[in-house]
Amino acid sequence: MFNVVIFGPPGSGKGTQSLKIKEKYGLIHLSTGDVLRDEIKSGSELGKEISRRIDDGNFVPDEMIQEMVIKFILSNKDGQGFILDGFPRTTSQAEWLDNRLAEINQELTLFLSLEVSEEELKQRILSRGKFSGREDDRNEEIIETRIRNYHKKTKPVIEFYKQQLKFTEVNGIGTKDEIFSKVCNVLDNVKVQTV
Ligand code: AMP
Repeated sequence: MFNVVIFGPPGSGKGTQSLKIKEKYGLIHLSTGDVLRDEIKSGSELGKEISRRIDDGNFVPDEMIQEMVIKFILSNKDGQGFILDGFPRTTSQAEWLDNRLAEINQELTLFLSLEVSEEELKQRILSRGKFSGREDDRNEEIIETRIRNYHKKTKPVIEFYKQQLKFTEVNGIGTKDEIFSKVCNVLDNVKVQTV
């Protein structure tokens, strides 16, 4: 199994790189943000509740996200592996993931972090907001909240995986293909070691 988490602040390019990784390495992909946005689009009561949190730049509750993640992992546990994008976003989610994977005799292979400067992030999110239709990509105050949440709640996840020696960093500046080529170097290297 080749189980990867792609990590980084909002606007770091996780979604774009995930799709390329998924295709090249035959992995299944879960973007927690995409699934949440689909629920909002469905117009359900749950979607309305999710929307109130996302639109303010805040997180949705762990239980809701974890249920989605475990369903995804269990329904694909005989495949080649997965790529998670947007999860884990807190240390408690990371601990939860480790425990659930251990229960099915799996583990995370690699935690790949995309590094992008703060100024670049804001510019990228604002320009994405022009066509993504995402409320949380259009308002500077909400973008600030998301970046603040990243620093406060999400960045500590890096330490969690550094301790497990699973952390790898890739510079997320450049064209999509340039970044992907750096990502592939890392993934190919780790793949060779895990075969
Ligand atoms: P993203 O598309 O990854 O930027 O996620 C968009 C929004 O969905 C985030 O700002 C959060 O409100 C919510 N979200 C996505 N993944 C998670 C998660 N693992 N835990 C809590 N909230 C999440």
